[in-house]
Amino acid sequence: MKKKSLVLLLAFAMIFTFALSACGGGSSEESSEAAEEETAVLKVVTEATFAPFESTEDGDDTIIGFDPDMMAAIAEDQGLELEWVNMEFDSLIPALQSDQGDIICAGMNKLAGDRAEKVDFGDTYFESDLMLLVTSDSELTGIDAVTSDMKLASQIGTTGGDMVQQMKDEGKIADGVVLNQWTDCYLQLQNGEVQGVIVDKPVGEEAYLNNHGDIAKFVGDSFGEHEEFAFAVQKGNTELLEKLNTGLANIKANGKYDELVAKWFS
Ligand code: GLN
Repeated sequence: MKKKSLVLLLAFAMIFTFALSACGGGSSEESSEAAEEETAVLKVVTEATFAPFESTEDGDDTIIGFDPDMMAAIAEDQGLELEWVNMEFDSLIPALQSDQGDIICAGMNKLAGDRAEKVDFGDTYFESDLMLLVTSDSELTGIDAVTSDMKLASQIGTTGGDMVQQMKDEGKIADGVVLNQWTDCYLQLQNGEVQGVIVDKPVGEEAYLNNHGDIAKFVGDSFGEHEEFAFAVQKGNTELLEKLNTGLANIKANGKYDELVAKWFS
């Protein structure tokens, strides 16, 4: 009799232990999944030759600028973790469409073309206009003074790039040179290969004229569509977009946004 009750007791203990570990294990699995979801690192894609919004310093791949600082402040406010990936500007929207990125932050004009049909843009975080950058000895007085024998450069896939290609198609210039990096556009201007660069005003001022004001200048008034820079998320990701918009509103309200503008724009 004793032996039988011992066997029964052992069987009960084994069943109880198994049940306990199954329940406990489930909760630990659920908590680890929840923890993973909470700390999922979001991939921010950008094109880092657009100082002072984003650039890299010689020999260092770390992306610095107003955009990384702004997004870091938003991420802290909203409990997000970000990693940055540098790629060509015309690869940014395809990266989100192919789930190779979660957020675009690249001084991207949310009003341009069909961009808003492909990704969802957030609230505006900066405004800008296009300007014509020329060498200091240029006699050009503005974009309307450009003649059909001239060449203009800008970055591929951007509003400036679209404009130089449009001017070429309309026969207003001899060639519209679209390049992958803004730094290459500035070099072609300096080397005399192009007579002008169409670039965003704050970028031309901060990234080039502040350091090359002796050999280059802006001429004429701004032109093209007034631009509204915004971050973007994959189409339909309203939850993430609401977090980013809330974070932006919060850093504007607490003074952090203005502190970053003062840091990066003279
Ligand atoms: N603001 C321009 C655009 O949206 C250029 C952006 C950039 O070169 N990063 O196309």
